[in-house]
Amino acid sequence: MSEGIIQPDRPEDIDGEGKDLFSKFDDMIALREGILATGVEDPFNLVMEKVLSPTRAICNGRDTILLGTYNYMGMTFDPDVVEAGRQALSDFGSGTTGSRVLNGTYQGHKEVEQALMDFYAMDHAMVFSTGYQANLGIISTIAGKGDYIVLDIDSHASIWDGCAMGNAEVVPFKHNDIEAMEKRLKRIPEGAGKLVVLEGVYSMLGDIAPLKEMVAVAKKYGAMVLVDEAHSMGFIGENGRGVVEQAGVIDDVDFIIGTFSKSVGTVGGFCVSNHPKFEIMRLVCRPYVFTASLPPSVVATAETSIRKLMRGSNKRAHLWENSKTLHKGLRELGFQLGTAEPQSAIIAVIMPDLEQGAAMWEALIKGGLYVNLARPPATPANMTLLRCSLCAEHSEEEVREILGIFEAAGKAVGII
Ligand code: PMP
Repeated sequence: MSEGIIQPDRPEDIDGEGKDLFSKFDDMIALREGILATGVEDPFNLVMEKVLSPTRAICNGRDTILLGTYNYMGMTFDPDVVEAGRQALSDFGSGTTGSRVLNGTYQGHKEVEQALMDFYAMDHAMVFSTGYQANLGIISTIAGKGDYIVLDIDSHASIWDGCAMGNAEVVPFKHNDIEAMEKRLKRIPEGAGKLVVLEGVYSMLGDIAPLKEMVAVAKKYGAMVLVDEAHSMGFIGENGRGVVEQAGVIDDVDFIIGTFSKSVGTVGGFCVSNHPKFEIMRLVCRPYVFTASLPPSVVATAETSIRKLMRGSNKRAHLWENSKTLHKGLRELGFQLGTAEPQSAIIAVIMPDLEQGAAMWEALIKGGLYVNLARPPATPANMTLLRCSLCAEHSEEEVREILGIFEAAGKAVGII
């Protein structure tokens, strides 16, 4: 008998009444079945049969405007980006089949890291296979036993999972509340390591953090600061470096986390830093070491896209115009929005409940518009949201069309 494997003593143990480990999902299964039983299209099972451009696709057989992607800068069909990927696929093959610390660092990985250092004007850049893994890896590795992580309660799942994977004490504070954050920092024992984790743009409501004040408070208490700028890269701040740049605190933060899966238009994650010892992370950060590196075609598209985003000021200006027009139009139609003013490329439309949210989502998709239906636990305060994320490639005319579809759907469902 092999050690560590429990063998049944008697044959009847084999078909005993064991606990079904799926029973914990029963409430979720019932909720989902309840919604689908009303006959609505499944909002979490949409298939894009053909993608026509960054802003249009054939979804479930219909020509649809995309207003629920993170393709903020519309780079996915940029001819230079596509060509760079094609070339790398031919020159370097389809994948690396290995970790960055073994056989998985190709020329392209070094080049995309250099592009990130140039983009952020920082000394170090480390690329992960996703943004999720970047948060998981950096947070769990730098904050260890006896250290404290002070974080906004509305932080992204990858930040929470990074905290859960490490051994630090985790201290959340009320969303965007500077005083609450300070109170938590004040209570941490003298001499303990402290990491404050913030996001530039919070992706559910599209609101931004008061980073100028928050970073100053963090520094006052000697904390290191990590800011996740996943939703701001490429268009917030003079050079698209994010809310940290817009707030004038980029030199005061220790780590910026980002992703290639939004404005960059492909997949991958990263951390940039000026910390002199940062390179040791490549050997001690498990979600970097124990996984395969990104395919050569992906890093080539990312590098080309990042270098183009450095010259993207016209696109940025148009994206801001789109955001303002949509926000104003939706407010005038009578929808309740997540922010009083547009603060990013995300505009959240608050739904009364999940049933009406699903009905509204379906009315929009049938009208030719895709948005994200977001619900708890991803959303704050148990809200059901229709999350609209704009793209720099949406034309003025498309934004008007979007408002028309919202008006018709809102009236049909009885929300406005
Ligand atoms: N951070 C934030 C704030 C995010 O919203 C996301 C993804 N939605 C991530 C990190 C993870 O990014 P990725 O898609 O690259 O895993």
